[in-house]
Amino acid sequence: MRRGRRPKWMINIGKERIDILFKLADNEFSRFPERSHRYVKLARNISTKYNIPMPPEWKRRFCKNCYKFLKPSINCKVRLSKGKVHFKCMECGKVIRVPYEKEKNQKRRKKIESYLIKKRADE
Ligand SMILES: [Zn+2]
Repeated sequence: MRRGRRPKWMINIGKERIDILFKLADNEFSRFPERSHRYVKLARNISTKYNIPMPPEWKRRFCKNCYKFLKPSINCKVRLSKGKVHFKCMECGKVIRVPYEKEKNQKRRKKIESYLIKKRADE
């Protein structure tokens, strides 16, 4: 297949598939952790093949070092320190640090977005 940007419909299907895979991974993690890790792998394949960025809600739900699915409090430790969120992967020990401010802004943006959607629906 041709390299470069994909048509929009392909990206949309890819996004949907990534979302489905992560939801499955989240649901099945308690029973079949190996299956969840495989779902992450499949989602990553789609993301890299079609140049689709990982959706923000799932971006921090897998380890960027060993690409395993992370479930906070089970195989991932979440701590706050020095204005950053630390995600520690219990599978390989890698710590991912995410600035807190960005997270706060994201939350705020989501709030505004949901408000706008609601407002639009009311009209
Ligand atoms: Zn890891």
